[in-house]
Amino acid sequence: MSDFRGIVSSILTAEGAIVEQVEPEGIEVLAPEPLQKALSIPEWTRMGFGLELPDQAVRVTLESDWTERIGGLLGDRGRFLVISLDRNSFSKLPSDPERLIRHEMVMDNATYRLKEIVEERTRYLLLTFRLTAVSDEKRDDILHLCLNESNGTMADDLVDPLLSYLNSLKAGNAPEPEDDDFLALWGAQKVRDFVKRTLPGRIRTRLSPFLAGMERRMGRDMDRLYAYHTDLRHEAAKRLEDKKQKGLGEDELKKERMRLDAIEREYHAKIADLQRKYAMTVEFDLIQALRLTMPVYRFRLLIMRRKEKRNIHLDWNPVSKKLESLFCERCLSSLKPYWVCDDNLHLICPSCISPCSSCGKTYCRACHPTKCPKCGHRSYSS
Ligand SMILES: [Zn+2]
Ligand SMILES: [Zn+2]
Ligand SMILES: [Zn+2]
Repeated sequence: MSDFRGIVSSILTAEGAIVEQVEPEGIEVLAPEPLQKALSIPEWTRMGFGLELPDQAVRVTLESDWTERIGGLLGDRGRFLVISLDRNSFSKLPSDPERLIRHEMVMDNATYRLKEIVEERTRYLLLTFRLTAVSDEKRDDILHLCLNESNGTMADDLVDPLLSYLNSLKAGNAPEPEDDDFLALWGAQKVRDFVKRTLPGRIRTRLSPFLAGMERRMGRDMDRLYAYHTDLRHEAAKRLEDKKQKGLGEDELKKERMRLDAIEREYHAKIADLQRKYAMTVEFDLIQALRLTMPVYRFRLLIMRRKEKRNIHLDWNPVSKKLESLFCERCLSSLKPYWVCDDNLHLICPSCISPCSSCGKTYCRACHPTKCPKCGHRSYSS
């Protein structure tokens, strides 16, 4: 967890402390008075971040109350950052840009033309969420959403390279915000709508290993419960049969039947308990937002479907060294090939232009998000 040591060191240094590294995985802190008060620490402290602690060190981990103490120290600072990168140190576009676009523009019912590639600036919004999933176990995770505000595409490929690039910048050398008014800012409502559409799917994908583990444990418990109650049922049924054979009276048989019913009821109650035990709730908080403007190579494209045309663009980012991907304009999946709708030339995935389940008419779910334009049947995602 030496990353955490680095973060704590930078924060304490910024708050006026003198910080020195000590091994194994620790720091020695000489804190000024306000910092001593804010963190309830003495003037001289040693902190340890690894399994093994340096001499006289207190243990500081993400799970301990130190995250709250340091969070309290920061308050709202560091929640929203606006930065701007210039084009100096960035890579140039690969020599065969046409190949990049051929790979991306796989469309089944339309054609396209690459009009030009130009140097442009664009603005990205990188949102960082903390996820907490709780079922029989608890799991914390961090999830990023990154979008290009110029065309509303997801810029997932940019997240990791961008974070490592920003981390590699020396302190004091951080890029300055610029007065970048070349592009209208996405307002709060637009960002909120975007997050509402994209986050649930991302959370599901991110939590799928956790979910799979949980389902395995739940399956095992269900099997055990089933085996146990099946045995009980068999025994009770056998006793009932024996009593019948012995010609015992209705009262005796009734007792066994009641026992069978009770076993059945108990089984269903236990199943319901298990479902409650394994039900998962997920909470998420926006913990940080970064707005970044930077240079890109813009691929201006013309989509052509029958007699209609539509201009779009995709950006090649010099930090990720990748051309961004197209996304279905309805469900935001990136499943190729894309389809282009007749009315508005939306780029959509096959399932968002599928036939109506009632009348069979094929229609675009981006044009008609709630119901079929022919028969009015409500669509699956409305
Ligand atoms: Zn779709
Ligand atoms: Zn229909
Ligand atoms: Zn459409």
